[in-house]
Amino acid sequence: MSVSENQGFNTRAVHAGQAFEPRTGAVVPPLHFSSTYAQDGIGGLRDGYEYGRGGNPTRDALQEQLAAVEGGTHAFSFSSGLAAEDSLIRALMRPGDHIVLGNDAYGGTYRLINGVLGEWGIGNTPVDMSNLDAVSEAVAANKTSFVWVETPSNPLMKITDIQALAKLAHDAGALLVVDNTFASPYLQTPLALGADVVVHSTTKYIGGHSDVVGGAIVVKDAELAGKIGFVQFAVGAVSGPMDAFLTTRGLKTLGVRMDRHSDNAQAVAEWLLERPEVEAVLYPGLPNHPGHELAKKQMKKFGGMISVQFKGGEAAARKVAEATSVFTLAESLGGIESLMNYPSEMTHASVKGTELAVPVNLIRLSCGIEDVGDLIADLDHAFTFIQ
Ligand SMILES: *Cc1c(COP(=O)(O)O)cnc(C)c1O
Repeated sequence: MSVSENQGFNTRAVHAGQAFEPRTGAVVPPLHFSSTYAQDGIGGLRDGYEYGRGGNPTRDALQEQLAAVEGGTHAFSFSSGLAAEDSLIRALMRPGDHIVLGNDAYGGTYRLINGVLGEWGIGNTPVDMSNLDAVSEAVAANKTSFVWVETPSNPLMKITDIQALAKLAHDAGALLVVDNTFASPYLQTPLALGADVVVHSTTKYIGGHSDVVGGAIVVKDAELAGKIGFVQFAVGAVSGPMDAFLTTRGLKTLGVRMDRHSDNAQAVAEWLLERPEVEAVLYPGLPNHPGHELAKKQMKKFGGMISVQFKGGEAAARKVAEATSVFTLAESLGGIESLMNYPSEMTHASVKGTELAVPVNLIRLSCGIEDVGDLIADLDHAFTFIQ
């Protein structure tokens, strides 16, 4: 079946780009590994397919599905989230242009923008994105073409008003790019709130099973899509067929997983809040979170990510990070299994010593879809080491 934008999220996630195979009726579209396609005479392409970097039916199916769930018109799938970000910047920016981004942006995003693209003439200013006056000032002070935001942010879980930021960016002639990795399109659709571009690390919630690395760009404008499609083809950091297939399979169940991730995280956050060892729980689902009301407005639920700061400082954070067993100590997030991360030495080690550095008494939890009682029992046991 083909899907319409009036259908619900889960219907679109399951069916967009996933029509059964006409010859056999195979309900799951076949995985196409071929790198090249036979031509019916020179230039006689079947359905436009010529060569695997330019087009592959398995990747196209994923791209159609991604566009449908984000409410975009075009989506582009890449070999990683950072490959997607690199292609996006090179497609739409030129030397001398400037990016204003969150001062707690994902470390790898900052490393790409500052450490790689900085050498090619792309400037950047990190600011607190939840402070719109500060953003406005930074945008006006430079030839800003991108305002780049993560909301919720990683790992400080700050919430930014997408609608207000879109207006601010547009008034200054800039585009708003939202990294929607943490929320996922099930919880938040930035294009509907005025954003121009959504980027994803599909490695996280969209893939959802910690078994594939990938990235995506989604837009709602044909001119932007033309420029991004050209760089995707000309640079070639595309997802391979197996990666695209696994990502599609994950995306079909995104809605049911996000409901469980969010419910588990809410219960874990409420438990943490009562613990004497804890200095702060950063979770937008808690009424005391400064972004709670805003998150309620622009998100369907509050997601599966929690950051926790300990009164016992760095030592306590490190002890708890190394003492859990249901939560596995590992980088990444968004899989069905719970993960524990010590950002200042792990995911955010690349921003240590910069203004993007993460507090050393902080751990980040990616709450999986296990039984929530087991998650809490695991943390309860780990806390005995810091009492
Ligand atoms: C992981 C991540 C990225 C980078 O994606 P990769 O797939 O690892 O290249 C970008 N943004 C956020 C928020 C992430 O969590």
